[in-house]
Amino acid sequence: MTKRQRVVVVGAGIAGSLITAGLRGQHDIDLVCLERVGREDHTEAGTGLNIGPNALKCLALHLPESAEAIRANSLPWTRWTVALTDGRPLMDLRLDTVADNPGVRIRWAELYTLLREPIADHVRYRAELVDCGRDAGKPFVRFLDSESGSERRIDDINLLIAADGRYSLIRQFVLGGPERPNFLGVCLYRMLFPAGSDCPIGDYSQWFNGPNRLLAFRVPGGFVYCAGSFPIWAGGAIPDAMKRREFLRAAYTPADGPPSPEVAYLLDAIERYADRIHWARLQEGGVAYGREPGILLVGDSAHPMVPTLGQGATQACEDACVVVDEVKLALAEHRPLATVAERVEQRRAERVRFVVDFSRAATDTMLEGADPVAGTLKKTEAAFQAKLARLYRDVPVPLSQHVGELA
Ligand SMILES: Cc1cc2nc3c(=O)[nH]c(=O)nc-3n(C[C@H](O)[C@H](O)[C@H](O)COP(=O)(O)OP(=O)(O)OC[C@H]3O[C@@H](n4cnc5c(N)ncnc54)[C@H](O)[C@@H]3O)c2cc1C
Repeated sequence: MTKRQRVVVVGAGIAGSLITAGLRGQHDIDLVCLERVGREDHTEAGTGLNIGPNALKCLALHLPESAEAIRANSLPWTRWTVALTDGRPLMDLRLDTVADNPGVRIRWAELYTLLREPIADHVRYRAELVDCGRDAGKPFVRFLDSESGSERRIDDINLLIAADGRYSLIRQFVLGGPERPNFLGVCLYRMLFPAGSDCPIGDYSQWFNGPNRLLAFRVPGGFVYCAGSFPIWAGGAIPDAMKRREFLRAAYTPADGPPSPEVAYLLDAIERYADRIHWARLQEGGVAYGREPGILLVGDSAHPMVPTLGQGATQACEDACVVVDEVKLALAEHRPLATVAERVEQRRAERVRFVVDFSRAATDTMLEGADPVAGTLKKTEAAFQAKLARLYRDVPVPLSQHVGELA
């Protein structure tokens, strides 16, 4: 009997959970997923996110059960409006003019629960990767098992999948050390709060006061997700003075008139729930998938990008679909799984570079000195909308389902 090939997935976030779900029925591999947090811990649980139409289209083609679970537990994202904080409209985009299906709006906690529930048998929780490398030509990992308090090692890995997010230890190993991220000079903060009975917030909307931007939408369970931003010095931390309630209110208050009802509602909520805010700085790194045989980076560990177009988790979904497809192809063709890393790089790198560059370019209206009126006008023109259509429609198609037919 031939030895089963060993696949280790590090991280049960978006990419890692989907990959584990897609491969769990594959009895010819030995599959384990290591996750640092406990079963019920969700690092991002206090916020929400929008997932692009392209993720749903891609998942429906490759992993239909996951697509259906996400769709059933979310609200549809069908519209993208932009206005000034005094209410003057700048853009009203119906997503069906640039996409084949809606995206979704969802809470992180909901998303993690529904992605992790089907893979319970394959995930080792409270197992934190502390080291990785190569021994006798094959990848190995060392992890801290918090249940027993001891360190453990897995050797003889045929495919090590780094789904351990933006600060990936495996990415550091592959790139030969820590890298300096590119900071764009924008603070982005996020919060989730109960909508209340007078909530005027619905589908995905943005409001600008100069380059200072509010973004908000409703998510299931009666909550509003709100992400605010303003320019900061690219070389430093977010100054404490800019985290104060008075600063935040002033940042979005129009100079010559009252805020629109939606903005007034959000300003009150920011003031009331300021202690729930998660603070971050916009940053990105280079694209790298399969530079080492047998080691594959996916999701944020492969392409830390700015979240301006809501494509971080969305691209993690696309990555997961291609990884599952390539592992199935390799198994069907009796190829070593070590070849999967390079094949995924070939299928994904060009599209993801397009997404990373497009996300950075779309951040123009949030930078110091930006004119949101002229910048948003450009986003209503044919060139930008054609790029959006490419983003939302040109998803990777599955290849492995035809292997049997070709043989
Ligand atoms: C402010 C902000 C807003 C965003 N909004 C959106 C949005 O609206 N839409 C969108 O599509 N994307 C958005 N993103 C991006 C999105 O959060 C990420 O791109 C996405 O979560 C990446 O998925 P992933 O699977 O690669 O990593 P993650 O979801 O980060 O998962 C990584 C997993 O690895 C685990 N892990 C980490 N280190 C270790 C270790 N050493 N050992 C074991 N396990 C480990 C973590 O606990 C985690 O479970 C946003 C990001 C930010 C910062």
